[in-house]
Amino acid sequence: MFDLSSQLATRKDVGLYRNRMTSNSPQGVQVVIDGREYLSFCSNDYLGLATHPELIHAMSECAGNWGVGAGASHLLGGHSEPHEELEQALSVFMDSERVLLFSTGYMANLAVLSSLVGHGDVVHQDRLNHASLIDGAVLSRARLQRYPHADMNVLAKQLERHKSGRQIVASDGVFSMDGDQAPLTEILELCRQNDKLCYIDDAHGFAVLGEQGRGIVDSIETRSKDYSDGHLLLMCTLGKALGSFGAFVAGSEEMIETLIQQGRSYIYTTALPPAVAAASYAALKVMMMEGWRREKLSSLVEYFRTGCQQRGIPLLESATPIQPVMIGDNDRAIAVAETLKQQGLLVFAIRSPTVMAGSERLRITLSATHEEEDIDVLLDALANALEDGGSA
Ligand SMILES: *Cc1c(COP(=O)(O)O)cnc(C)c1O
Repeated sequence: MFDLSSQLATRKDVGLYRNRMTSNSPQGVQVVIDGREYLSFCSNDYLGLATHPELIHAMSECAGNWGVGAGASHLLGGHSEPHEELEQALSVFMDSERVLLFSTGYMANLAVLSSLVGHGDVVHQDRLNHASLIDGAVLSRARLQRYPHADMNVLAKQLERHKSGRQIVASDGVFSMDGDQAPLTEILELCRQNDKLCYIDDAHGFAVLGEQGRGIVDSIETRSKDYSDGHLLLMCTLGKALGSFGAFVAGSEEMIETLIQQGRSYIYTTALPPAVAAASYAALKVMMMEGWRREKLSSLVEYFRTGCQQRGIPLLESATPIQPVMIGDNDRAIAVAETLKQQGLLVFAIRSPTVMAGSERLRITLSATHEEEDIDVLLDALANALEDGGSA
């Protein structure tokens, strides 16, 4: 009836078919996948916390006390002490009036955009924003205006043009496929001047960037005022650098209360298991205590970039653990990733439509649990594979 088979076949023909692999080991630098061992450069577990004993202990202990399922949605009895404790701790850490926990970052973005704007309003988005921000805008029925990547002149003109209605400027903090950072100071300034809301999705910056690990907002001195003024709203995920699962939104009391009242992806879903919240709380504490993880990670990023320069490997401008190697062609990106895989290195090719056609790349991510020797292995293999044109 739907003729899915020909649709799937076309996808295969044009090289866009995606395959899952099954992991036989936990997250880490050394992983086993489909029975083979790999050195992995594709995890978002940037600090290596996913297997940290403190997190495992907190999760098991909480499951022992609270069971597994939350049993209900947050508004109908599923909200428990472990959720509440985590929200309080995150709100203190982030200097925001209040924090609201979500089951996933995807759902947080849907809730924020669809509860704060609607028909007749405008959402301005960076062209490279994450799919969940785009989906949130579509769901909201507000008008979606995209501006070229980090282009503040175009954004300023867009804001100039749309005077009426509620408006949100939404941007990734760290761009998930490029690794570069949004010009947050400028975006926030434009939002203050025009009395708009700046909504930042810092899924990849939280716990990684900033001296304390608050992410991209660490650079904003007035952030607690910006939150309470209603000019700044922040979303961070707990499933990446924090090694756990879930997400939170930080903002003013009113914004958060609005999300609780109107966020459909908050209201109509089962609350996160309490044990997951307990694991996230433990992760927050470890992240705050073990600043060496962030420092080591940033020195590994430096080491990798220097090594690429020495070997003529083409990198995008990025100071974060997301280090894309530009290939610029779908088939070649797949071939280079395959060559690396045959040598026991796990790196993914990122293709269109996730990135624009012609900007296909390898997305390399580094973790505090890598060592310089691991990076040496990757650098040599990359240099060779790129020289061979990635012919497997
Ligand atoms: C991963 C990611 C999300 C989604 O977060 P989940 O908790 O995995 O649903 C949202 N935004 C960005 C930029 C991301 O990278």
